[in-house]
Amino acid sequence: MTCPACEQAAKNPHCGSYRMQCLECCARLVLSAHPSKPQAASLLAAIERFPQNPGREQVLACVAQRLGKPRSAPAKSPTP
Ligand SMILES: [Zn+2]
Repeated sequence: MTCPACEQAAKNPHCGSYRMQCLECCARLVLSAHPSKPQAASLLAAIERFPQNPGREQVLACVAQRLGKPRSAPAKSPTP
């Protein structure tokens, strides 16, 4: 599930090439903004403007996976 831009990025993480139709690329792009939420949100908005983009939900799920925080995980309340 990779594209030429993903392969390029694997060899050279700073090449900055992304394909907005590729879920891996979208996740990589959003993660590049992490942990800035406003920046990540604006990148997500930009991704959504591309035709055939994987969709916000898919991208967010992939980003969460990369961060090791599956969205389906049972939430433990940190508040006392
Ligand atoms: Zn890609």
